[in-house]
Amino acid sequence: MAITVAKFGGTSLANTKQILKVKEIIQADEHRRYVVPSAPGKRTPDDEKVTDLLYLLQRSAEYGHDYETVYNKIRTRFTEIRDGLGLNIKIEEYLKEILEKILAGADADYAASRGEFLNGLLLADLLGYEFIDAAEVIFFDKRGKYDAAQTISALSKRLKDCPRAVIPGFYGSMSDGSIKTFSRGGSDVTGAIVAAAAGADLYENWTDVSGFFMADPRIVKQARKIDTITYKELRELSYMGASVLHEDSIFPVYQAAIPINVRNTNEPDAPGTMILPTIEEDEGGRVTGIAGKKHFTVLTIEKNGMNAELGFGRRVLACIEKYSIPFEHMPSSIDTLSVVLEDGLVKDSISDIIDDIHRVCEPDSVEVVGHIALIATVGRGMVSNVGTAATLFTALADAGINVRMIDQGSSEMNIIVGVSNDDFERALNAIHDAFAPKEAQGR
Ligand code: ASP
Repeated sequence: MAITVAKFGGTSLANTKQILKVKEIIQADEHRRYVVPSAPGKRTPDDEKVTDLLYLLQRSAEYGHDYETVYNKIRTRFTEIRDGLGLNIKIEEYLKEILEKILAGADADYAASRGEFLNGLLLADLLGYEFIDAAEVIFFDKRGKYDAAQTISALSKRLKDCPRAVIPGFYGSMSDGSIKTFSRGGSDVTGAIVAAAAGADLYENWTDVSGFFMADPRIVKQARKIDTITYKELRELSYMGASVLHEDSIFPVYQAAIPINVRNTNEPDAPGTMILPTIEEDEGGRVTGIAGKKHFTVLTIEKNGMNAELGFGRRVLACIEKYSIPFEHMPSSIDTLSVVLEDGLVKDSISDIIDDIHRVCEPDSVEVVGHIALIATVGRGMVSNVGTAATLFTALADAGINVRMIDQGSSEMNIIVGVSNDDFERALNAIHDAFAPKEAQGR
């Protein structure tokens, strides 16, 4: 039988009502055999996430502050869920043991992981699925790095004998048995690991949005939903600021060529967005998404005959590297070379960098422009399509937006433009509207 791994985020499991929706989703498809839950998230926009409460509990205990208030909040969240679901698990006893361990010095990772652990116990009981503690199957090495080889081998063995299970997200264990978590949002990573280990046919990531949008819907109100996207396009967009999935959650499933389907627990009939290893090229290419980030500085160095001067680029980069500043992009032309750097990293050393470049590289001029926003327009087969760049630049020109930098990059699917920070939102809207079919906007 085909295997689907279904990961549910915090808002999908925030209270009894949401958990009952999750139960219905799981029971609607018998392939949903492995379930990876987050800890209970926010019930309303100004609510608290259980993970944040657990971190606070650990800190309060460590620094000798009042920990009882936050402990009671956590207990109420879990007992309300348990009672609402009509389950009999002795959550109070688990919580008492957790508190005792924290008071005896257990660290922040241990505390934070207990949200997923308890939610996993509740969900397994509700579904009649086996509970597999992530500490027994997900491993980190001595330096705290995720150990893929050990994990995949142990987890795939374990899942072979277990047709249906709940495996809590976000944590695993170190070789000394202590608990270690992934970075925040890490249940996405656990879901991807379980999918890879189970040899799943599909990794479903259930959240509170109906998939990815062509642009950030907080900025582009009519943003069109993306039906299908490749892993590589998603990586380009995530790097430029688009966020729905944890970045590290792509790798395990990408390697195993397992598709990811991002779905909405509150709209279970919507197909969501499908992330696929490859997609047949559309005729003429297309734009899949637009993402961007503000606050960059562009350093443009001009020197006649630069292209013939051996080692010029290396010397420029060495002047920047000296200040431990990584560069984002480096578009160049015959006699100019630009380096794009983050405003925040460069602000204290910019004059020293310019002095060094003058001394080491002897350029004709060095120009600095700050407060630049970068916008990436990403799509398959897009760069080779003649019309794409024209549409992009016409849209910006029609909106009266001055393009300060262009970088077509070496990847076939990305054109990056730099505009003033102040033009960022208008530019995103203009590019989106130029590429999203009008009838599909806001869908
Ligand atoms: N509960 C954890 C967090 O809030 C992990 C997750 O939800 O993915 O970051």
